[in-house]
Amino acid sequence: MESTSGLPVTYLLKPGELTLKGGNKREFERALRRNLETLLRFTGAVVSPAQGRYFVHASKDDAEKVEEALSRLIGISGWAKTRVCGKTPEEVLRACVETAGECYDSGIRTFKVEARRTDKSFPLDSYAIRSQGGSAILEAWPGLRVDVRSPQGIINVEIRERAYVYGMEHRGLRGLPVGTAGRGLLLLSGGIDSPVAGFMMLSRGMRVDAVYFHAYPYTSEEARQKVARLAEILGRYALGMKLYTVGFTAVQLRIKEGAPEPWSTVLLRMAMMECAEKLALRECLKCLITGESLSQVASQTIENLSCTQSRISLPVLRPLIGMDKEDIIRKSEALGAYAVSILPYEDCCVIFSPPHPVLRGRPAEAEELYQKLDLAGLIGEALHTCTVEKCAYPSRKPDNED
Ligand code: ATP
Ligand code: MG
Repeated sequence: MESTSGLPVTYLLKPGELTLKGGNKREFERALRRNLETLLRFTGAVVSPAQGRYFVHASKDDAEKVEEALSRLIGISGWAKTRVCGKTPEEVLRACVETAGECYDSGIRTFKVEARRTDKSFPLDSYAIRSQGGSAILEAWPGLRVDVRSPQGIINVEIRERAYVYGMEHRGLRGLPVGTAGRGLLLLSGGIDSPVAGFMMLSRGMRVDAVYFHAYPYTSEEARQKVARLAEILGRYALGMKLYTVGFTAVQLRIKEGAPEPWSTVLLRMAMMECAEKLALRECLKCLITGESLSQVASQTIENLSCTQSRISLPVLRPLIGMDKEDIIRKSEALGAYAVSILPYEDCCVIFSPPHPVLRGRPAEAEELYQKLDLAGLIGEALHTCTVEKCAYPSRKPDNED
């Protein structure tokens, strides 16, 4: 079957929340289209927007890459491979029957037909499309039954400039298109939480770069590579991301030698925040993002969080603050980071963590201890020597070629 552009496979995309965004709608639509075209860069696919929908026309050879791209696109509520046919009842009903056959083959036994007709000149109205479509399907596939309340499958018909018929709809990532909500700096460790935090801010449209504090040789090269892999995974949704690696060994050792042991984690976090803020200001990033979740560990009590951010003025976004660990893990799995996050390479914070950390640090005491350490020079030096890697996405290399 030929689509409008002459390419044989067509996908229909439903934009998500951006349909609600009044005045900014045009900007959101532009960003979504730009992101979609970026994701499809190494395919011959063509994008065409039409009245609240986007269509992607591709060759069969590109279908797998296109589907991979659609599964990474933030800002759509759903997408489906669609049949495109002429606007005659015969063609539309035939497409309904063929689509229902595919649904049957995939195990679906109950269905309903939904219809949307923006072209009112089409001879059947929505009700007639639903009822005639349903009858044609039942006649062709006696194993299928209609269930209007909770069908296993829905055959969708949209009559627009052409007629579109589709069955299996994939859930999109939702959220708002990346690039519509400013830029932030994610403090990315090798754990489960921070990649999820980064993904959540990407889903609100923020562009995200990441910083990792490395304490070589106390943390290994493998630990750094693990973080680089996490940045690469996030970069697939961010459409590329920068990863800054800051050597923090000297800072950590100064804290270990110069501060009471129970305070070491809180002071280290303060130093990371201070350094991250300097980096963010240098790179024109508007906020810091962390994977902190209230009371998950000693350094994340509300008192210790106050200490941690007491020296900085950029907003600190903590999208996981009220989340349960199991929900975080589920999100980590969904974004494809979990298997990497649980690799066993140690985190610098784990190595330096005290057996009996302070649980409710007072910001005034934290400040006094922090001042005594005189870290400004070491932090400045660490920033000066920090390295940056650009994880481009998409690249010509397939995702699974690690
Ligand atoms: P994660 O699983 O993301 O490491 P966590 O539960 O281990 O989180 P902590 O180790 O206490 O929590 O770290 C809290 C947050 O501080 C992390 O989510 C991350 O944003 C930041 N962070 C911790 N260690 C580092 C690091 N080495 N480099 C950059 N950011 C870090
Ligand atoms: Mg950690």
